[in-house]
Amino acid sequence: MLEIRNLHARIGENEILKGLDLTIPDGEVHAIMGPNGSGKSTLSYVLSGKPDYEVTDGSVSFDGADLLALDASARAAAGVFLAFQYPIEIPGVANMTFLRAAMNAQRKARGEEEISTPDFLKLVRAKAPDLGISQDMLRRGVNVGFSGGEKKRNEILQMTLLEPKLCILDETDSGLDIDALKVVSQGVNALRSPKRSMLVITHYQRLLDHIVPDVVHVMHKGRIVRSGGPELALELEESGYAAYAQDAA
Ligand code: ADP
Ligand code: MG
Ligand code: MG
Repeated sequence: MLEIRNLHARIGENEILKGLDLTIPDGEVHAIMGPNGSGKSTLSYVLSGKPDYEVTDGSVSFDGADLLALDASARAAAGVFLAFQYPIEIPGVANMTFLRAAMNAQRKARGEEEISTPDFLKLVRAKAPDLGISQDMLRRGVNVGFSGGEKKRNEILQMTLLEPKLCILDETDSGLDIDALKVVSQGVNALRSPKRSMLVITHYQRLLDHIVPDVVHVMHKGRIVRSGGPELALELEESGYAAYAQDAA
């Protein structure tokens, strides 16, 4: 599904990713943990094609295609979805309108027909309640006046409707209380499938109690420095990132 080789990327003069290797097979959930500033969000932005990030070396193959050759909208159409660490508010655009536009943009790029109004409403009404998204939240501007937890749940609703092949979750757990964490995790777990891969980025172990990964990676200074099973997350919870911080110092 995803094969990243020797990825180097920078913002301006600042090299952030420094030779990152990562392979995620079909159907697997991989977690990336690491201290603040190690480049986790940068990796998610580079994969989703956010402008301002310059790839200076390496390759990313996604479903057999050269991901880096595609612009951000083509990547989304190909099935890459990024749930943001800080979801943005879009005043004046109703959440429903946005969700439908996102679905239709993706369908159009795939050469499919637009979803009909009844089908769309049926789908949203089936999926939104499980994520605690009310009718009112669907009518309001995208994320406008939403709490931190509501914004994250709304990201998972988008992800659910778009049915991506690769889901990237950047610190979706940050700012969530335990109940919201469970709702978000259930939404993510419901999307686990042999045809879908997930990259779950987190600073804390607790998310991985709910979304149990196949592989855990530790990222430090722009590279993957360790990989292991779920037990690696527990070990990090014990030891913290002190060893890596010392190294950084
Ligand atoms: P993480 O998500 O692991 O906390 P980030 O990817 O956000 O790490 O940041 C990695 C490094 O890149 C940090 O040193 C940060 O200061 C730097 N950085 C992030 N965004 C920018 C930017 N827009 N311009 C310059 N440096 C940045
Ligand atoms: Mg950070
Ligand atoms: Mg980050």
